[in-house]
Amino acid sequence: MNARKRIALVAHDEMKPKMVAWATTHKDVLKKHELYGTGTTGGLMASKVGLEVTCLKSGPLGGDLELGNLIVHDGLDMLIFFWDPMTAQPHDVDVKALLRISAVYNIPIACNQASADFFITSSLFNEEYAADLPDYKAHINRVVGNES
Ligand code: PGA
Repeated sequence: MNARKRIALVAHDEMKPKMVAWATTHKDVLKKHELYGTGTTGGLMASKVGLEVTCLKSGPLGGDLELGNLIVHDGLDMLIFFWDPMTAQPHDVDVKALLRISAVYNIPIACNQASADFFITSSLFNEEYAADLPDYKAHINRVVGNES
């Protein structure tokens, strides 16, 4: 991934104030990157923090799945996702899909403020990084019975 990363910012409703505060603290670093957000989170990043963000659909309306689509097509480098462990989400299966596809494609995920602090203070945040993309050919061959 390039030094200028494509970063998604997502926060569940109860976590949005924390995400706004965190992004405000780190605005100068974040603005050097290409930012994406689910609809409401992205809107808050623009209106409350002053960041330029490409806003997708709101999470419950498919935004998490849009982020998953970006990941599948090599359109996203990192996910900063303050998800709420204490509140049931109507789109829980979408959240699970997003987390799974991030793991499949070896996308770094910061799932709370502490991990986001570690990410943003890492030298890798602003440097090129060669992520190791797992080779799934062996898995596919096993599934379709093409093992040699
Ligand atoms: P939102 O979506 O930013 O549109 O609220 C976040 C989510 O619930 O995944």
